[in-house]
Amino acid sequence: MAPVLELRNLVKHYPAHRAVDGVSLAVPRGRFYSLVGPSGCGKTTTLRLVAGFEPPTSGEVLLNGECVNHRRPYERSVSTVFQNYALFPHLTVWGNVEFGLRRRGAKDIEKRVGQALELVQLTGKEGRYPAQLSGGERQRVALARSLVLEPDVLLLDEPLAALDPNLRKQMRAELKALQRSTGATFLFVTHDQEEALSLSDQVAVMNLGRIEQSGAPEEVYLRPRTRFVAGFLGSLNWIGGIGLRPEATRLMRSAPGDGMRSARATVVESVFLGNCIQVRARLETGEEAVAELPRHNGSFASGEAVHLCWNPPDEIHFP
Ligand code: ADP
Ligand code: MG
Repeated sequence: MAPVLELRNLVKHYPAHRAVDGVSLAVPRGRFYSLVGPSGCGKTTTLRLVAGFEPPTSGEVLLNGECVNHRRPYERSVSTVFQNYALFPHLTVWGNVEFGLRRRGAKDIEKRVGQALELVQLTGKEGRYPAQLSGGERQRVALARSLVLEPDVLLLDEPLAALDPNLRKQMRAELKALQRSTGATFLFVTHDQEEALSLSDQVAVMNLGRIEQSGAPEEVYLRPRTRFVAGFLGSLNWIGGIGLRPEATRLMRSAPGDGMRSARATVVESVFLGNCIQVRARLETGEEAVAELPRHNGSFASGEAVHLCWNPPDEIHFP
């Protein structure tokens, strides 16, 4: 099936900066697609180019197979949920959600707004103003306002960043459920790797204006192709030139059996993290590695001699 959104070698150069430096990607319809990368890597700029708020220096934005470079933002079948929500403060919840439909002269406005508000569980709060809402509720208004337009692609720029950590996790689950139940296509931007991995059907990891790798979350996490991707998606131990995730790193008091690789090490410190124990150990080469162990593995004392072990399939190799 043809992708609903395609970017072909998209470039945006500012006088002093290459914000987007040749991004190509294809988003299949109905998928949750994430762009994840550190602050300043060009995520927002990419979304702005898709939405048409800025023209690209070169390259193409295609919606449903058609180049839309020449189209104004309102002529593109996309809708943006902005990082700061950008709600109209003088309009109620209802007013905010119906605004776009009114401007388009849409039919069935009452029904569609009602359904959108139900979808984000804001029924009963139609008459409130943004200032009378919690952060999570404002976030839901922003989502409803975009979803109600039934865009081909919903563009979401760090929509959870302004929420406190507990609410963030709750909204994360809601966002995923919303995408699944509506079947809408999401292009979601975040700097949070856990968010990207947990929400997405497909993840593209961005660095310095380029996509370094894209694929299913498991694929990019377990088989990163570059050191940047590996390190950005999670912490990594470096042992003799190979990478090893802390959760794939084990500690044993005696040498492991066949099939496992191991290196002698000395425990530096052991930290209780609640859900696991994190043990830092120093190898004979001087390299340090962190093992994240289940609590029932018991404790390790500083100075203890151990064998740091791992399964060969967990090794991450780079060209
Ligand atoms: P992200 O959303 O990934 O944090 P942005 O896309 O906002 O990154 O920005 C990418 C880079 O482009 C940053 O270094 C930023 O300073 C620069 N940039 C963004 N917009 C402009 C602009 N209008 N003029 C000049 N530089 C810009
Ligand atoms: Mg940004």
